[in-house]
Parts: sequence; C-alpha cells; structure tokens
Amino acid sequence: DTIKLADPGLLKNRALIDGAWVAADNEATFAVTDPATGEVLAHVASLGVAETRRAIAAAESAQRQWQAKSGKERAHILHAWYNAILANLEDLAVLMTREQGKPLVESRGEIQYAAAFVEWFAEEAKRITGDVSQHPQADKRILVLKQAVGVCVAITPWNFPAAMITRKVAPALAAGCSIMVKPASQTPLSALALATLAERAGMPRGLIQVLTGNARVIGGELTASPLVRKLSFTGSTEIGRTLMAQSATTIKRLSLELGGNAPFIVFDDADLHAAVEGAIAAKFRNSGQTCVCANRILVQDGIYDAFVDAFAARVSKLHVGNGLDPLTEQGPLIDAAAVAKVEELLADAEMRGARVATGGKPHALGGTFYQPTVLADATSHMRVAHEEIFGPVAPVFRFRDEAEAIALANDTEFGLAAYVYTRDLGRSWRVSEALEYGMVGLNTGLISNEVAPFGGIKQSGIGREGSRYGIDEYLELKYICTQL
Ligand code: ADP
Repeated sequence: DTIKLADPGLLKNRALIDGAWVAADNEATFAVTDPATGEVLAHVASLGVAETRRAIAAAESAQRQWQAKSGKERAHILHAWYNAILANLEDLAVLMTREQGKPLVESRGEIQYAAAFVEWFAEEAKRITGDVSQHPQADKRILVLKQAVGVCVAITPWNFPAAMITRKVAPALAAGCSIMVKPASQTPLSALALATLAERAGMPRGLIQVLTGNARVIGGELTASPLVRKLSFTGSTEIGRTLMAQSATTIKRLSLELGGNAPFIVFDDADLHAAVEGAIAAKFRNSGQTCVCANRILVQDGIYDAFVDAFAARVSKLHVGNGLDPLTEQGPLIDAAAVAKVEELLADAEMRGARVATGGKPHALGGTFYQPTVLADATSHMRVAHEEIFGPVAPVFRFRDEAEAIALANDTEFGLAAYVYTRDLGRSWRVSEALEYGMVGLNTGLISNEVAPFGGIKQSGIGREGSRYGIDEYLELKYICTQL
C-alpha cells in the first residue's frame, strides 16, 4: 500500500453509485498522483454517461424518501457523519496531504473545517421554518413553506478536497436534497473517504454519490438532465461560465464560488507586524492556491519600504517541503501547469519592472516545488494585477491615499475576498463599505469558518455557503394562499 492509514478501508478507488462501490462499465481508470513525489497513489474509476444516468435515477428515488423525514431525523444522521469524520481525522488528513500536497497541519485544519459544516448544518436541519403573513383581504392568510430543491450536484476543486464537498453536501442533505459529487480528478480520494464515512454513519444509499472521472463527460450529463434541479460549483470563473450556460437549458438553480483577485490593503496607520503576519496567512496558505488568497498586496507610500523588507524577510524563512514533514509550511504546487502559470506571470512582471525581493525561482527540491516569492514595485500594467496567480507569488503595489486604494482594489471583474489593515475606525468602515467584495477581512488574513456567509459578487459567483444563509441555496419557497 502506498498510503499508510490506520483504517485502510478509507482508501477507495471505485465510484459510489446507489450504495455500491463500482468500477466504470468499460473498466476505465485514471491515475491519482502525489504532487510532492510524483508517485501514483491509486487508479480510480473513470465513469461515463451510462453510469452517470444510473446515479441520477438513484438520486431521485433516494431524495423522495429523504425529504419525507423530519429535520430532526436528518440531523441525527448528519451528526453521526460529523462524529465519524472527527474520529478519522488523522487518516483523512494524511490522505489529503498525499493527493493534494498541503502541509499536514493544514490538512488537519481542513478536516476540522470540513467537519464543522456537517455539524453546523445538522443543527440547521431542525431550524428550517416558514412564516404566516396577513393577506390584503381580511379573510385570507399567506403561508410560506420551505421545501427541498430536489436532486443536486456538487462539482468541486482540488485545493480543498474535503471542505468544498461538505460545505455543499451538508446543507443539501439538511434541507432534504440528495446530492451527487463530482470531485476534482487530482483529489478524488478525500471525497471517496468522506462518502465511506457517511455510509458507515447510516446515510441511506443514493443520497450521497461520488462520480469520479472525466469532468466534461460527467458534468455534461449532469447539467443536461432535467431531473437535476441544482448545481453548486466551486472552481474557476471560466468553467463556472461554461456550467452556467449548460444549466440554462434546464433552468437549474445555481451556486457558484468562482475565482478571486483579492486585494490586501495596508494603510500607513496599520500595525506593521500584524499586517505582515496577516499577509503570510492570506497569501501562502496552501502555497497560494485558494480563491481567497491575497492576489495583490496594496501598501501605502509611508509604510511601503518597511512592509516590503519585513514581509520579504519573513517569506524567505518559510519552510518548503513534503507536506508529511512536520516542519513544512509550504508544500508543492498541484501540478506542472500551475508552475508554468506562476513562471509566466513572474516573467511578465519582471519584464515590466517588478523587482524580486525574495524567491522568484523553482525550488531546489524540484518537481512542482516553488520558492515563496515577493515581488516589489508591482503595477497595474502587469498580468499579476488582473489574473488570479494561484501560487506562492506576492506582488506588492504602492498607493498614495484612501481613494486610490479603493479604486485599485475594485479595478477587477472579481469580487470575492478583500483584506484591510488599518487602526483608524472611520477608515475601516469607509473602506469596508466601498470595497466591491463579498467578504472583507479587517485586520485579519483568515476569514473562513462555517458560521460566516462565504461567497462573492461580480464574476466571483452567485450565492453564499455556510452560515444560517447557506441552507437557503437548497430550499425553495412555497406560498400557500388560504381562504378562511
Ligand atoms: P481549477 O483551475 O481549480 O482546476 P476548474 O474550474 O478547472 O478549476 O475545475 C474545478 C472543477 O470543475 C473540477 O472538479 C473539474 O474537474 C471540474 N470541471 C472542469 N471542467 C469542467 C467541465 N467542462 N464540466 C464540468 N466540470 C468541469
């Protein structure tokens, strides 16, 4: 066995359809590799159209029975799943680090974060409530009920192989929906392990299914089906557009968590040390491969040089290595294409006058390891100002005043996360309100948790995940007009 787990039963290489672990009809598989070593970890079933159709049919009949249960009954099963995830935290973390590359400490954190969504929505399952209103005519009443949307689909990315799944699956199940998960092909093992634990927790068959394989084939079939009432997608804006267009034919409900171009704004009055630590957290977590990662660090004139010096000094000390090594603070990038993109953006920035303050090269470890990099003197003319870097490169831009900071920050089609460091109370309000973003971190570089509504505006997406609002993405309102 290439992956050592306390419970080897968590390592699955087959897809889950209607409660059965299945190979592809034609026995096709794809390889999953460890980005730190290039080692092949597993060959996983690559499903086609026929298997996807069987899953859709199973999802439909499972959903009908599930929605008939009470919220309390659904909550019990979700709580059991939550406990099973936490009981297997270490195995799930090791599996994640092996297929995704992130440091073990981050994998453990993600499993806790992933589990927290299951706990949260187990609780919310019991609090789905409608209301009764007056009618304009005295002898009538208006009732509003909330009902499950029906059969749902989650298409998820490789950067958070567990949390992006539970953040969709848990509210869907809490609401009374069934859900089919199409995990990213780089990281299907975490998805399959989570489904194994759901099964052990007593989840009825067909409610959670995991469809592994070619995204275009499976995604095409899922979006074309009129039986699928909702798609929740996390990934690039480009694929989000494609899926939105494909969903137009059957008018599906959509939740989209897409790309970002997060500004990280440091004003002259900021606490320099806190800003540097916040920037490290917001930029280098998961080697810069998150949609809320600081993409542009905007620093005011008066503190610019001090910030660049302190930041570069701190970044140069980040320990790069295999995520299994407890000293590692930054693992490899997911694949060669990710490295190529980083190199392209760096070359463009340097050609246009950016200065490498630290890093700037592939790491001596080889493979897809890259040096944590700080680029000083970045400007709007560079591609790093407009494109999501998704790697360990932090370009630092300069601004003069509050108005310029806001204008620069909003100069993008994206609107997911933004960060502001200032100790001026009035400024913190003015800037937070002026930022065209779904989320603002004020004097903090870490904003994600299950209680907060996560999501973006503009071309960063539609809808919110987590929080008391997140379950509404999986509920329809029904209005009943009653004559007394
Ligand atoms: P990333 O750049 O993070 O890999 P993508 O948007 O390419 O983001 O991928 C996110 C998810 O979308 C993955 O699960 C991927 O397999 C899936 N995906 C990619 N292309 C398509 C497609 N044409 N139809 C459906 N799903 C897709």
